[in-house]
Amino acid sequence: MSANIKHVRERIAEAAHTAQREPSEVTLVAVSKTKPLEMIQIAYNLGIRHFGENRVQEALSKIEVFHPADLIWHMIGHLQTNKARKVVSAFDIVQSVDSLHLARTLDRLLAEEATDQEPGRLPILLEVNVASEASKTGVTLTDIPDLARQVATLPHLEIRGLMTVAPQVEDLEEVRPVFRALHEARDHLRDEILGPTCTELSMGMTNDYVIAIEEGATIVRIGRAIFGARAYT
Ligand SMILES: *Cc1c(COP(=O)(O)O)cnc(C)c1O
Repeated sequence: MSANIKHVRERIAEAAHTAQREPSEVTLVAVSKTKPLEMIQIAYNLGIRHFGENRVQEALSKIEVFHPADLIWHMIGHLQTNKARKVVSAFDIVQSVDSLHLARTLDRLLAEEATDQEPGRLPILLEVNVASEASKTGVTLTDIPDLARQVATLPHLEIRGLMTVAPQVEDLEEVRPVFRALHEARDHLRDEILGPTCTELSMGMTNDYVIAIEEGATIVRIGRAIFGARAYT
């Protein structure tokens, strides 16, 4: 795993330089879904501090036993509102907010848990289905401004940016316009609606993270290139 992480970090640095960006502008989230806790601990000992999971139950079994203070757990999968309570208590950031209903549920649960010392603001990203694929969750590009305006009124959530999963394509270059569109949508949100805290662009996975970084990704979510292939998804 050490060689995998080194390789990924090198490619992140190269892609950043190609785009005249600093490698430190890109956060590497290691996607540990389906992988055992031991592998997460190895990655942590190799310097990884951000981990992503897409299933609540599976994630909780890991987070409850392994949550050092400097480890950030990212929820990256579609979330049913009946599991939202567990998510707000375990995860540090939810990247997959894809409806007002989910946002309101998270906000209400956070309000219940908030104290004066810890007002409880959860960083979130809005998940966008850029290519409007029927098989995917996420809001369309057109719906982002309205959703963002409404979510921005919820006191316990903070929209930090946008997230997308690019379509599966044969020619990798076909994902570039998707990433570019998300970048433009983030800029518009930041400049016209939300202000300077809306900085994140979570895009790029094992197959396409180099292109994503060239197109401005600030967060890449990488599973297989770090942990190896998965038996199931
Ligand atoms: C599984 C998953 C990833 C990581 O995919 P790899 O191809 O293994 O890098 C990234 N983002 C989301 C939302 C995922 O579900």
